[in-house]
Amino acid sequence: MRDYYIAGNWKMHKTRSEAAELAKALTAQLKDGKHKYLVAPSFTLIETVAPIVKGSNIRLGAQNCAQDEQGAHTGEVSVLQLKDLGVETIILGHSERRHVYKEDDGLINKKVKLALSHGFEVILCIGELLEERDAGKAEAVCERQVVKGLEGVKDLSRVVLAYEPVWAIGTGKTATPEDADAIHAYVRQVVGRLYGNAEAEKIIIQYGGSVKPENAAQLMAKENIDGALVGGAALKADSFVPIAKF
Ligand code: PEP
Repeated sequence: MRDYYIAGNWKMHKTRSEAAELAKALTAQLKDGKHKYLVAPSFTLIETVAPIVKGSNIRLGAQNCAQDEQGAHTGEVSVLQLKDLGVETIILGHSERRHVYKEDDGLINKKVKLALSHGFEVILCIGELLEERDAGKAEAVCERQVVKGLEGVKDLSRVVLAYEPVWAIGTGKTATPEDADAIHAYVRQVVGRLYGNAEAEKIIIQYGGSVKPENAAQLMAKENIDGALVGGAALKADSFVPIAKF
């Protein structure tokens, strides 16, 4: 049986005091939560949020990392620095990284392997653009992103996948639970082909894309949807907590 895993990606939002306030509200209100939880604040907020979530049932995440351990990489943040702050999980391949900052599968794969080699859990995001969906390529795009993103990865025990159709992120448009579940099932098959059925049955596949308190339960009821990666609705305890306790 897979545990549900609900993650909040705070993106480029909040000051330190706002982040502390949200983290405190979440630790208090999710204390009795039954699932696995994560918050991923901006790099500059991690040190503020870390002591608040420490010892709680909320993991500390980062939204990205550099492809190299350290060196001359102006503006980048390394896995060593994230580890030093107590980060446990790194979100990689988010659609904003892929499409706005032009990260390709090769770069994302390098980051995935680096993060895993330093003991982090990785949430690898995948998902198709609207034109790819309309051209009937949603499965093929997700398959490519999984195959290339995990190239050379032998152990899936610290890998989580997040299916986030790009057209559903921050747009208010959610994939129907049926459409999302169909892609999740397909991705699970791909994982099965690469790693065997036991691994495919175990891997957590989150759904992301305008998840809200109103649609969380219907999405989570689907066989292959094991949690959520939440953007906009993760910015307030009033909307994240009901999703987390769907
Ligand atoms: C995300 O950025 O991962 C996301 C799913 O955003 P939103 O929930 O706002 O669509």
